Amino acid sequence: MLTGIRQMEMKEIPEPVLAKCNDVKIKMSVMGICGSDIHYYTQGQIGSQKVQYPFTVGHEGAGVVVEAGRSVKRVRPGDQIAIEPAMPCWVCDQCLAGRHHTCRKLRFLGCPGQAEGCLMEYIVMPEESCFPLKGKLTPDNGSISEPLAIGVYAVKKSGGIKGLNIGIFGYGPIGMSVMLVAKTQSVGKIYVTDIIDERLAISRKEGAFCMGNPIRENIVEKIMQKEPLGLDLAFECCGKQEAFDQAIDLLKPGGKLIVVGIPEFERWSMNVENTRRREISLQFIRRQVDCVEEALEMMNNRSIIIDNMVTHRFPFSRTKEAFDLVAGYQDGVMKAMIDF
Ligand SMILES: [Zn+2]
Ligand SMILES: [Zn+2]
Repeated sequence: MLTGIRQMEMKEIPEPVLAKCNDVKIKMSVMGICGSDIHYYTQGQIGSQKVQYPFTVGHEGAGVVVEAGRSVKRVRPGDQIAIEPAMPCWVCDQCLAGRHHTCRKLRFLGCPGQAEGCLMEYIVMPEESCFPLKGKLTPDNGSISEPLAIGVYAVKKSGGIKGLNIGIFGYGPIGMSVMLVAKTQSVGKIYVTDIIDERLAISRKEGAFCMGNPIRENIVEKIMQKEPLGLDLAFECCGKQEAFDQAIDLLKPGGKLIVVGIPEFERWSMNVENTRRREISLQFIRRQVDCVEEALEMMNNRSIIIDNMVTHRFPFSRTKEAFDLVAGYQDGVMKAMIDF
């Protein structure tokens, strides 16, 4: 549990019990550490969502069903599952409009004020959050289905990507997820920028056409040389003003910027002329909706392979070490997994 800024303690608490007839008790197998977990660990908050200590983070989980309530149909004890961390109310205007990711009463695993996270040995979730791991899918696939679903959703919200030249600004697990999904849809050239060279090296392995590190080079000039008319589509995946600005500078008139990154500041700013005269569209992304199954299927049919994403593993007992590694962007870390 988080017990303060950059503080974490192992605590013994009672095992959770089934409260509703559609509840499922899950023994955790693996959990991926997400950038948002790190925000809570190092800042104690994301925007207005503030941690009250002690608090358990974590929402990229996979596990085994150990008990199911009497109305549960989609899983049985013994099933390996991916856990969808969102628990919407299913009855508000947003839920009824099919936008349950912006549910008015959303509870999300490991989100302060909503629900404790899955960085613990047992959790209880409603059956709607349980997705059986079919075929050859592994617990890692189950856990990665969460960030990957965000890539699926971001590409969907771009309105189609076939044949387009795109830029991915920030190549952490979310930027990488966008790329893995884009590659399955006959995208044109993919340009990738990041300030960490190891991440750029991974993007090269995944087939990036051209990479740039804005710390060392002028990436706008570099990409403009190869793409003088500009990019069709840009994905901001790191929550940095510089990346947002570079993305807009590189878009062609009528281009679209998809903003996926979570910034640590309160306001984006943008150049009026640059956006207005060239009629740039902006689309913000809030996690994902209904994309987990698609993400799982893409891994099951091997159109997406996540081997280059999982770079580090730690046992549950060494979770703090894992968080410090990810928080410090050390050792070329992309995704670190916790094994229970
Ligand atoms: Zn996540
Ligand atoms: Zn709702």
